[in-house]
Amino acid sequence: MSSQKLSISSKLPNVKTTIFTSIGQLATKYNAINLSQGFPNFNPDSVLLDMVTKAMHNGYNQYAPMAGDMNLRQTISSKINAISKKYYNPESEITITAGATQAIFTTITAFVSPGDEVIVIKPAYDSYEPSIIANGGIPVPVNLSPKTYRIDWGKFQNKITTKTKMVIINTPHNPTGTVLTKEDMLMLEKILLDTNIIVLSDEVYEHLVYDGQSHESVAKYKGLASRSIICSSFGKTFHITGWKIGYCVGPKELMNEFRKTHQFNVFSINHPTQIALAEYLKNPNNYSSLSSFYQKKRDFFIQELQGSKFKILPCKGTYFQLLDYSNITQEKDISFAENLIKKYKIASIPISVFNENNRDDKVLRFCFAKTQETLEKATKILKSI
Ligand code: PMP
Ligand code: GLN
Repeated sequence: MSSQKLSISSKLPNVKTTIFTSIGQLATKYNAINLSQGFPNFNPDSVLLDMVTKAMHNGYNQYAPMAGDMNLRQTISSKINAISKKYYNPESEITITAGATQAIFTTITAFVSPGDEVIVIKPAYDSYEPSIIANGGIPVPVNLSPKTYRIDWGKFQNKITTKTKMVIINTPHNPTGTVLTKEDMLMLEKILLDTNIIVLSDEVYEHLVYDGQSHESVAKYKGLASRSIICSSFGKTFHITGWKIGYCVGPKELMNEFRKTHQFNVFSINHPTQIALAEYLKNPNNYSSLSSFYQKKRDFFIQELQGSKFKILPCKGTYFQLLDYSNITQEKDISFAENLIKKYKIASIPISVFNENNRDDKVLRFCFAKTQETLEKATKILKSI
């Protein structure tokens, strides 16, 4: 009997394996220094590791509450109140998630219906658009100004239609390192006034802001906080990207809808890390010096590249440095990134994958969340190119 071939109509026909996986695999194959995917190559604080071990021995090995451990939610609430002067009720306005990726996917699934438009600032982190499309939504790109990577608010406003359901912003911004200013936030607040548009604010790099700038959370702006879900991640703040734990906050009406999806998407997040983070997060010293810690790494990376053929683009936040290589070659960024791995044993992320229509600006992204030794080796290689 011949078997019938299954016909699959893909919900994501244009989506391939993410660049983080494909470049990561190539980096491993060629034993390259890996500055591609964004993660630290050093361990988190051993105090935090001990707290997780303790939580496991103390019996926190079964399901956590659906919205997350209450103690952790209370600590998050106090932290946001102290920093942004905005109170979120831990009972009804904060949910612990399996990293920001799940928070983002769940937010989009909870609010975006087929035919809804979602404004996405490009270049954009690569999970936004597939999440929109899988829900039948339509991503509407707004390009950052080339090379300066600022938002042109006039262009942004022109993209708003009666179908716009959501706007996704990301500050500090991956991959460009741009940080939105107070003026940006006030513009956004003004543009959205009297609309029914929800804001998804991706603030995973909230504690990685440099040169004396401050992180402008939507929580600080009344007209934005009332329409926003903020997604954040402990992965970035505590050097624990592999734990996949984050959270989202938003007004009760939005959080209520979020949780309707969340409870069937993941139900609850691993329990012992929540217990540990509740304790660890209580001490502001555990995150308040993160910006200066990473600014030193950024400064070292930039300083060592002086005199190289790469052009260094501004990085005001995140742990990514963009380098323009147009003085070296006109090769496409994906192929140049692959060649750097094969010939020079150094891995980076080509920016075209985040751009509208994969526009190629001859720019690569390098993650500097690495040990001094790795940064020394990496910059030496880059200087030799
Ligand atoms: N948003 C941005 C902008 C990111 O760079 C990342 C990177 N991981 C995420 C979301 C996802 O965070 P998580 O690892 O907590 O899922
Ligand atoms: N956020 C990280 C980056 O941009 C990694 C995300 C991922 O691997 N999906 O590099």
